[in-house]
Amino acid sequence: DTVTIARALLSVSDKTGLVDLATALSAKGVELVSTGGTARALREAGLTVKDVSELTGFPEMMDGRVKTLHPIVHGGLLAVRDDDAHMAAAADHAIGMIDLVVVNLYPFMQTVAKGAARPEVIENIDIGGPSMVRSAAKNHAHVAIVTDPADYALVAGGSTTLADRRKLAAKAFAATAQYDAAIASWFAFADQGEAFPATLPIALKRADVEPLRYGENPHQMAALYVPTGPAARGIAQARQIQGKALSYNNYNDADAALELVSEFRDGPPTVVIVKHANPCGVATGATLIEAYEAALACDSVSAFGGIIAVNRPLDGPTAEAMAGIFTEVVAAPDADDAAKAVFAKKKNLRLLLTGDLPDAGRPGLMLKTIAGGMLVQTRDNGKLAEADLKVVTKRAPTEQELADCRFAWVVAKHVKSNAIVYAKGGTTAGIGAGQMNRLESARIAAWKAKDAADKAGWAEPRTIGSAVASDAFFPFADGLLAAVEAGATAVIQPGGSIRDAEVIAAADEAGLAMVFTGMRHFRH
Ligand code: 5GP
Repeated sequence: DTVTIARALLSVSDKTGLVDLATALSAKGVELVSTGGTARALREAGLTVKDVSELTGFPEMMDGRVKTLHPIVHGGLLAVRDDDAHMAAAADHAIGMIDLVVVNLYPFMQTVAKGAARPEVIENIDIGGPSMVRSAAKNHAHVAIVTDPADYALVAGGSTTLADRRKLAAKAFAATAQYDAAIASWFAFADQGEAFPATLPIALKRADVEPLRYGENPHQMAALYVPTGPAARGIAQARQIQGKALSYNNYNDADAALELVSEFRDGPPTVVIVKHANPCGVATGATLIEAYEAALACDSVSAFGGIIAVNRPLDGPTAEAMAGIFTEVVAAPDADDAAKAVFAKKKNLRLLLTGDLPDAGRPGLMLKTIAGGMLVQTRDNGKLAEADLKVVTKRAPTEQELADCRFAWVVAKHVKSNAIVYAKGGTTAGIGAGQMNRLESARIAAWKAKDAADKAGWAEPRTIGSAVASDAFFPFADGLLAAVEAGATAVIQPGGSIRDAEVIAAADEAGLAMVFTGMRHFRH
């Protein structure tokens, strides 16, 4: 099962660790064969190398498009060493065996990421490299294929074991699969501009983080994957400063929190507290600490064990305030030394630094598995323009009501449907999430607002004089009447129900101001 390496073929774009490996192999008496640039690098290091062109009797040609695509190379990779006919064919055609292939491919993804023009992108589609990788990987019974400098140590000793060759072959096929997925993805999305190609080429790799302990529940296993291209930005790319490893649920909740706070990227200091992927308090303020206290007061019971995201670098006083209750995760663009020092005392709290917040309006695809398939849709990056708002009641909203409407609307976009959000003065007053009918969400939100007022010792719940947002139209007047009962004076909703007239009449009767957005924000 152990193969002694007599001859190795090295052809790498990323020359990391190349010379060290080749030096080690050479010391074991391994013959080195190499392509243009790789051979040059090895000779510069004083090593003896044979050019592939010398081996094949063909020059590298056509700008390097044809270098190793030759029976002399592929015969030496694919021949089954214990098959007499294979070995006889090799002898007939003077094909020497190759026992180790070290290849990494043209930097296709990096070329796309740097915004190169089409011809350069095409030229960076490696053909000969993946061919050698696949030939060697198929014949792993006899040949070792190394595609990652991290694996050089496995072969540097001059021999390989079958177990290692199998592992390397699996990794090699995964590498070419990812490479082709990236190419297919570029063709489909960037070149052809297709939203939904006939097949979905997804290039994902396991994220470079500690494995997740378990999934949503302890009996489920889980892992985090990220796109292989370098362009992605989101919670998966956040840098963890301290605390235990993030769990599956932590990622899911922190994602919800970061996506919502990103809506306020260019807004005043804003704090979002999330529980089970729904916000339980969102507030803006003159300072981050003011925003935090307001967000906490919205639902201080649910905030326990919550996930916090903020839109400003964290400062010491805000961190101190947050440390007052148990919090699972805090995500911020950055944190100053004082904030870090405060959290350092909270060993379990996970602090994530995201850098500049992602753009809430960016494009992207959302994937959701269903049994036997996958649903794919574009991100809900819908944003309201002033011109989209249509006043439908006799009374138009005041400036304050309009501001509260818009704030409540943005929060409602990030609350599971049916979503009802009351807001006043840039703070959520009550949030009703995920109910199977809108009336119940409206009632729950009002009830939570009352509970918050009781807990905080306020004279009245903040739903009095608030604006209320509904993520989809009110199908009946009853949901709206529940909001009236809670004390809301302004409503923002998509409109579009066959009973809009009935709902508008009820609003007029109660003296409410109501605006239609013409846009719905279901979230399930
Ligand atoms: P070098 O720097 O040695 O000139 O080229 C190394 C790169 O060439 C590697 O990334 C390898 O995958 C790629 N390569 C090897 N053989 C061929 C071939 O026949 N055609 C093409 N297009 N690329 C090749």
